[in-house]
Amino acid sequence: MILPKYAYFKGEIVPYSEAKVGVMTHALNYGTAVFGGIRAYWNDEEEQLFLFRPLDHYRRLLQSAKLLCMALNQTPEDLIEITKKLLRTEGYRCDVYVRPLAYKADEVIGVRLHDLTDEITIFSIPFDRYVANDTDAHVTVSSWRRIDDNTIPARGKISGAYVNSALIKTDAMRAGFDEALVLTQDGHLSEGSAENIFMVRDGVLITPPVTENILEGITRRSVIELAKEELGLQVIERPIDRTEVYICDEFFLTGTAAQLTAVTRVDHRPIGDGKMGPITAKLRELFQQAVRGRLKKYRHWNVGVY
Ligand code: PMP
Repeated sequence: MILPKYAYFKGEIVPYSEAKVGVMTHALNYGTAVFGGIRAYWNDEEEQLFLFRPLDHYRRLLQSAKLLCMALNQTPEDLIEITKKLLRTEGYRCDVYVRPLAYKADEVIGVRLHDLTDEITIFSIPFDRYVANDTDAHVTVSSWRRIDDNTIPARGKISGAYVNSALIKTDAMRAGFDEALVLTQDGHLSEGSAENIFMVRDGVLITPPVTENILEGITRRSVIELAKEELGLQVIERPIDRTEVYICDEFFLTGTAAQLTAVTRVDHRPIGDGKMGPITAKLRELFQQAVRGRLKKYRHWNVGVY
């Protein structure tokens, strides 16, 4: 993978090689960090790089930080300005992925959240697709269960919690699948390893509510709005049973990295007729237009870097 040239580290933009922490750092030992993932899309006609919904992303990052009792000095607006400056310094003219990471920075032994120093770093890399098979993904239902809100809150993007996602993803890929869906402790579908989930049944778009141990996805939020506003679809947030996926008409994953990934098979069973469905295709197209700043109605989602 390509490394960044620069990073925001300890309050300034420095060469990436200078953005280093010691091995005793609390976050590295105990997973006490929270992160975000923001995409910026290059728009050729306007020669502009558009960050997608950075305000929503930074608000969520600060909420995740709050769950870990972090005190960060920056507001979401400050973090957007820092991000724009970082991307301008890199001088990108391509699609990129931005990773803010807030972490317990002390070099100290002792598991806790309080009486520690919080730092934030931000770096970015050029980025294309995350799920290689994004028009035709084959998923399984993971044998792992999703972390529960009373164990580690899934609504926070907490570094340590991503061991759960890593277990899910690796076992799925080693078994030959593109991704896995994961069940809550009481057996409903929560999400993918790093994506929210949607199914279509009889023309209605259905996704689990935020109380099903999911990350409150920004892509999820965007897709719900596009489905209602642009396609006039009914969108229902309710628990989803595992076997509903076997008999639904369409199924897709959403996430900053995964964007809208069409799922066409689950556990070797075709979804619908085994091809990407029409609603998924329309939403993918709308989303692609929106993220590149090509939909006037949604221009408030796009923040220009240059
Ligand atoms: N769920 C999990 C577990 C994730 O890691 C992600 C990726 N951030 C998502 C859902 C999708 O969230 P978003 O659309 O905000 O990227």
